[in-house]
Amino acid sequence: MHEAMLYQKQDQGRVRCQLCAHGCLIKPGDRGICQVRENQEGTLYTLVWGKPISGSVDPIEKKPLFHFLPGSTSYSIATLGCNFQCGFCQNWNISQYPRQEKGGEIPGGGPHGELVPPGRVVQEALAQDCAYISYTYTEPTIYFEYAHDCMELAVRQGLKNVFVSNGYESPQCLEACRGLLHAANIDLKSFRDEFYKSECKARLQPVLDTLKGMHAAGIWLEVTTLVIPGKNDDPGELRELTAFLVKELSPEVPWHVSAYHPQYKYQDSGIGPTPVKTLERALEIGRQAGLLYVYAGNVPGHDSESTACPGCGRRVVGRRGYRILGLDLKDGACPGCGRPIPGVWA
Ligand code: SF4
Repeated sequence: MHEAMLYQKQDQGRVRCQLCAHGCLIKPGDRGICQVRENQEGTLYTLVWGKPISGSVDPIEKKPLFHFLPGSTSYSIATLGCNFQCGFCQNWNISQYPRQEKGGEIPGGGPHGELVPPGRVVQEALAQDCAYISYTYTEPTIYFEYAHDCMELAVRQGLKNVFVSNGYESPQCLEACRGLLHAANIDLKSFRDEFYKSECKARLQPVLDTLKGMHAAGIWLEVTTLVIPGKNDDPGELRELTAFLVKELSPEVPWHVSAYHPQYKYQDSGIGPTPVKTLERALEIGRQAGLLYVYAGNVPGHDSESTACPGCGRRVVGRRGYRILGLDLKDGACPGCGRPIPGVWA
């Protein structure tokens, strides 16, 4: 059993978890909202340290991160669990497993149930020729102790670290990432607090704070919005969302607008997949707001998959699906007009 980071002991044996914005106050014998952190006699434990449920190699374009080492591969890990409860989750069978098996043992780890120490994760990443480790598929915040230990070792071995996250990290969690986390793709699922409350059982403001905090900390940041017809595709809402990205972060932050496919609780909702024209309308709203790099996701072959120089229009990174067709950059700048293209290119 591994003691948790970032919590405070309270009266009557209770503990206050400070890892994410839920800030759960947990009684002895209980677990937090994420169901993977348990108070045992006044000490908070993580139930998922060393219990990865995946260890796969995939392209950075899949995260998606388009301005971070294009064409490179990631060693991707996850454990079970999530601090959100999105009814449309695309990975619900692993993210919601602990909630569905409430109070039960959390499986994961090696093939025979043995713990997988961070050293083995890093060795595997090196053996597979990966440039970095991605903490992804579920929510890295809820397995932060494991991710943190892997990140420390990875940095010592010259690897980088990437989070794919819902952005619900607490300020203390962000502080603990300092010097360890190099890039992140954060979901901004909506610009309405009601959406976060009803669909995710969370709040909007902490996500906005995380975006600002990561950007200010110099972590390479890209943002994804899964566009769900009738739920978060209102043009007025998307205008507000993209204005926030431009004003509070930067016009240079890449924005991925992803197509939704019915999953989990939304399977019988009658809400069909996102039409391409809805995505294209969102892309146009992003451009009008001043965003310089907007991409359609989950629509392989779409024109917007490639990166064009905002200065002269030259294609500087060609993509199709997760494949890189060509990289035409000189020292991180457009060879045509010399305009620097933001990102981590080498
Ligand atoms: S990580 Fe978040 S959801 Fe889980 S116990 Fe801590 S505060 Fe609660």
